[in-house]
Amino acid sequence: MAKYIFITGGVMSALGKGITGAALGSLLEGRGYRVLMKKFDPYLNIDPGTMSPFEHGEVFVTEDGTETDLDLGHYERFLSSNTNKYSNITSGKVYDKVLEKERRGDYLGQTVQVIPHITDMIKERITKGDDDYDIVIIEVGGTVGDIESLPFLEAIRQFKYDAPTNSVVYVHVTYVPYLETSGEMKTKPTQHSVQKLMEIGIMADILVCRSRYPLNQDTKSKTARFCNLRDEDIINAFDVASIYEIPIMLNKEGMDNLVLRKLQLDEKPYTLDKWYDISNRIKDPKHEVTVAMVGKYVNLKDTYISLREALNHAGIHHQTKIQVKLVDSEGIKTDEDARNAFANVSGILTPGGFGERGVEGKIRSSAYARENNIPYFGICLGMQVAIIDFARNVLGLADANSQEFAPFTPNPVIHYMAGQEGAEKGGTMRLGAYECELDEGSLARTAYGVKTIHERHRHRLEVNQDYLDRYSEQGLVISGVNPGSGLPEVAEIPGHPWFLGCQFHPEFKSKPTSPHPLFVGFISAAINHSSQKG
Ligand code: GLN
Repeated sequence: MAKYIFITGGVMSALGKGITGAALGSLLEGRGYRVLMKKFDPYLNIDPGTMSPFEHGEVFVTEDGTETDLDLGHYERFLSSNTNKYSNITSGKVYDKVLEKERRGDYLGQTVQVIPHITDMIKERITKGDDDYDIVIIEVGGTVGDIESLPFLEAIRQFKYDAPTNSVVYVHVTYVPYLETSGEMKTKPTQHSVQKLMEIGIMADILVCRSRYPLNQDTKSKTARFCNLRDEDIINAFDVASIYEIPIMLNKEGMDNLVLRKLQLDEKPYTLDKWYDISNRIKDPKHEVTVAMVGKYVNLKDTYISLREALNHAGIHHQTKIQVKLVDSEGIKTDEDARNAFANVSGILTPGGFGERGVEGKIRSSAYARENNIPYFGICLGMQVAIIDFARNVLGLADANSQEFAPFTPNPVIHYMAGQEGAEKGGTMRLGAYECELDEGSLARTAYGVKTIHERHRHRLEVNQDYLDRYSEQGLVISGVNPGSGLPEVAEIPGHPWFLGCQFHPEFKSKPTSPHPLFVGFISAAINHSSQKG
């Protein structure tokens, strides 16, 4: 049986439990252990697919087509293993399963209750799919003290006593604020949070104290005393410039050894070379480029987290600092607006998106990149707007549009796939990894270096194939198609320095250790563009 690490959070949300867990996972993988990561989310949605990215951040898509919490993106970026449909369990999913069983009569004669029925279902999910792994790390979303996370906490509490001894470790992530007025690091919120956890019956084995500045030994010792722990059980994770420095920081704090000792696993040798290499490249950039990101949810960092990380990975590869200029597409109403917004950028990236708001500005941005030879990377909706621009402004089809925004346009250059129009909203899009074959000599083929790729999708509409001949006559080619369905997956403009749109989301598969080829290609073109500008 695998060993289990449960990660809970206290004091406040957004402390980076997911990244902490993922960084720990990478250290344990580095020691030769097979590590699986999962996330429990207490909300009642079946999955975050129907939530606003503005409120909840990005929806991460797994290889098997599950819409999940963005923390799974961190797990995949730090670890070698991929997540799947068993990796993100919400209260909604748990209740759904229990109620399905109740209707079937599986609990005949019983009163169906949170304890034991919901908690048993959660416990079933803890171990699901763990056969090939030595260590399973499970992050419990939310903050201790929330009403809705109680069933999950009760389940992980019970789990320790179902499992063999020394096979469960509880890690609690808290915050130690720095009080400017007294110049002190305050441990009281952490003490209270640990007490709150104890009320539920969980004794934290390790505390990860997040803080703005490094904690001194006195503060660590004091925290240990008040929380029934030893000094060594207090791990400090202070703010660092890049999330990719966190594995090194946790290792210096002794966290991986500590966990292994508590789980009675061998402290096998390891190397941190790859993390040092990545950190050094980030700290010592040789170039700097600015790329514009054109979207409407641009004021929330987490809305495009995988995309931003994929850009960072390409930056690490090229040893280049990437400045992202957030451009609100609603502000691009004229060519003059585009000129002003893109005057000092070396690349324009339009990410995926839904809904009509801001779309005309995205179409104008793509046109600006095309006409002014600025590297352009259009992802999903970003590809669709590039096609609309080309149809309108090169083919002369002034009313060309997507059926998403103009259902009755005579020129639906982007149209609904069969069965997608008016479909129920949850989990019905074209989701997950699909095969794509790339044309010899294309930009995409050069970037990937292989003919057949698999990339993850999340959309309802597709490029309308009726117009393809006219595009290619005028200089836009489809360089990647799905071999089964013939659906166009990649579009390029060969005469342009770098103009590529893809119907899939390459950002989900980029890792700091293996940056995504399309992002590497785009940033390389941006570096060239910026050096030509002088
Ligand atoms: N809204 C578009 C569609 O559903 C694009 C989706 C996306 O960019 N992920 O096809």
